[in-house]
Amino acid sequence: MSTPAILPEELSALLGPGAVLTEPADLEKYETGWRYGKGKALLVARPASTAQVVQVLAFCREHGLRLLAQGANTGLVGASVPDASGRMVVLSLERLNRRLELDELDRTVTVDAGVLLSALNQALAEHRLTFPVDLPADPQIGGMIAANTGGARLLRYGDVRRNLLGVEVVLADGTVVDALTALRKNNTGLDFKQLFTGTSGVFGIITGAVLQVAPLPRQRATALVGLQDGAAALALLQALEHGLSELLAAYEMMSADALAPVFSGPSPLRNPFGATLAPYTVLVELASTLPETALHLPDLLESALAEHLETHGDDITDVVMGRPDEFWALRHHISESLRDLGKVLAFDVAVPRSRLPAFTAAVKAWLKAEHPCFRVCDFGHWGDGGTHLNLVWREQDSPIPAAELVPMVQQRIYDIAVREFAGSYSAEHGVGPHNQASFDAYTSGAQKAAGAALKATLDPGGMLGTVRLW
Ligand SMILES: Cc1cc2nc3c(=O)[nH]c(=O)nc-3n(C[C@H](O)[C@H](O)[C@H](O)COP(=O)(O)OP(=O)(O)OC[C@H]3O[C@@H](n4cnc5c(N)ncnc54)[C@H](O)[C@@H]3O)c2cc1C
Repeated sequence: MSTPAILPEELSALLGPGAVLTEPADLEKYETGWRYGKGKALLVARPASTAQVVQVLAFCREHGLRLLAQGANTGLVGASVPDASGRMVVLSLERLNRRLELDELDRTVTVDAGVLLSALNQALAEHRLTFPVDLPADPQIGGMIAANTGGARLLRYGDVRRNLLGVEVVLADGTVVDALTALRKNNTGLDFKQLFTGTSGVFGIITGAVLQVAPLPRQRATALVGLQDGAAALALLQALEHGLSELLAAYEMMSADALAPVFSGPSPLRNPFGATLAPYTVLVELASTLPETALHLPDLLESALAEHLETHGDDITDVVMGRPDEFWALRHHISESLRDLGKVLAFDVAVPRSRLPAFTAAVKAWLKAEHPCFRVCDFGHWGDGGTHLNLVWREQDSPIPAAELVPMVQQRIYDIAVREFAGSYSAEHGVGPHNQASFDAYTSGAQKAAGAALKATLDPGGMLGTVRLW
């Protein structure tokens, strides 16, 4: 049986004017990943309702086309762009963004999948609420669920998974599953929404979600603390957790090699330390919904740090209290500043946080011995064991061609993280073509078999996504 000729106009007629894009110039931004991935789409379909998502899937089934869901395309593993075949349909959720219903008493919000995080938080702020998964990008809620976004305040609020109560999903055969429950307690067997959380859109298209939201803090206090080494950073983290646990919102580590370029380069930021940087700097943030009259966070943070200084004076080289926006700008400027120095080989890995210093030392020792052209510029969410162990280098400094060197270094560092330190090759960015080889190498046979069985049940024709989770 031959498949009918593909007529994008048919789909246009169903979805309405402007909803189907076919011109190469219009397709380009949907075909290009933020950091990795460049593919070729047959067309981009932009449905504005769940019913229209069902129609796009029917169109794809009828014409034997594969399909990729795309949110705001800020993903960092190449999973949000089509493959190079030119035969995939990109289903962009950007027009499915009208529903945003807050229940203040339940402290939940029901949203369309295409609602942007910024739009959600703008609406919630009027009610002194927030969706607290925080990152320096503006993803869609559906994309955040599919990637299970982590972010800088995971230590306090958890990842998307921990804040997700319900989903609406369209399966490959067009079945709409309404699991938009707003229950925090619901112990009735399989937790259906988890099938679609962190699974890169390969089991279904998320069209809506119910999220629990958090009270918006009334005040924040931040400090930058200069520390002698990684062990000192962990000792301070432990002390702050013991003393101020429920107030601690973020604990971000920045090595001197990662932070220094922020203060040089084409658009330098002010260095609050003066000239010298400690080997490690941590950004500590406290946050509270209590007003300053009830609890003065800057005083509390200052006295906790002073108390730690008394017992661990040798660990700490400097403490600077300051404005949260100024300090977060330093942290968020790192990735961009490193790119001014040369090529960046980025890693998003995690190990049990107690092992972060030993893990970093092991990677540095291996690179020094084998590939001294790399400078380790590490920073990241040390409070939850995540580290962006980014390597900066210049191709002309390596005797081995980049095409050979890069995969070799990636594999060795992932091996150190996963096999020697019981860690993860993808702490928070999810799984995509960029790290498919790592999924294949480090996932157990039993887990792959379970993934394959799920895929066979939910998407037997293999229509959805570009990643293999089996
Ligand atoms: C500057 C910058 C900083 C970042 N910082 C962080 C950070 O601190 N922590 C962190 O965790 N991530 C971070 N990210 C990564 C990224 O923002 C997250 O992965 C984000 O959640 C992706 O959402 P998105 O809407 O852009 O999805 P996309 O990139 O469009 O898609 C991501 C994946 O989800 C799938 N998908 C998208 N929408 C749907 C849907 N409706 N149904 C089914 N599948 C879908 C796609 O097919 C793809 O597999 C950062 C990115 C940038 C650019």
